[in-house]
Amino acid sequence: MRFSSQLKGLISFEFSLHSGYSRVMTTLDIKIYPDEVLRQKTELVTEFSKELHQFLDNMAETMYSANGVGLAAPQVGVLQRITVIDVSEEGNDLMEFINPQIIAREGKVPSEEGCLSIPDFRDKIFRAETVTVEAVNRHGEPFSVEADELLAICLQHEIDHLEGVLFIDHLTRLKKDMFKRKWKKRLLEAEASA
Ligand SMILES: [Zn+2]
Repeated sequence: MRFSSQLKGLISFEFSLHSGYSRVMTTLDIKIYPDEVLRQKTELVTEFSKELHQFLDNMAETMYSANGVGLAAPQVGVLQRITVIDVSEEGNDLMEFINPQIIAREGKVPSEEGCLSIPDFRDKIFRAETVTVEAVNRHGEPFSVEADELLAICLQHEIDHLEGVLFIDHLTRLKKDMFKRKWKKRLLEAEASA
């Protein structure tokens, strides 16, 4: 997920679940809409191995190098229930959510969003104002987070990805049609210049 720096400044950050962030990392390829993998559902993670830890490190690296505030595994072509998020201004509050579930939502707020898988497109949708999320960390230990502001928005955006849902799916029909026309034009232009 991508946010304007203006929105980033609004966050009040209460949780830091950063654990064992290693320094050997690879940047993964981000899948771009309409890649089919973005529409698939993900599977629960059952093994909390070294491979998982490496993958989490690579996801974080990929998110940071793309200037994102969140990244979900399907966006790098992996159909597992994993997302990384860092909504801090300094990019030093990495949060890892494995097998996350939203167990409560409250309120409704407008949210202007973008997505690393849908470059150069932003639009306003509505999200719950606060969410409670249960997940496990990279060692399989459960935790829960009550989130508001940008973190709440980001969690909803990323957990949607784990269900094959994109933020454009929340647009009104009219805006969805506008997006589709815009994207079609973009693809045609890309083809023409290739
Ligand atoms: Zn996204």
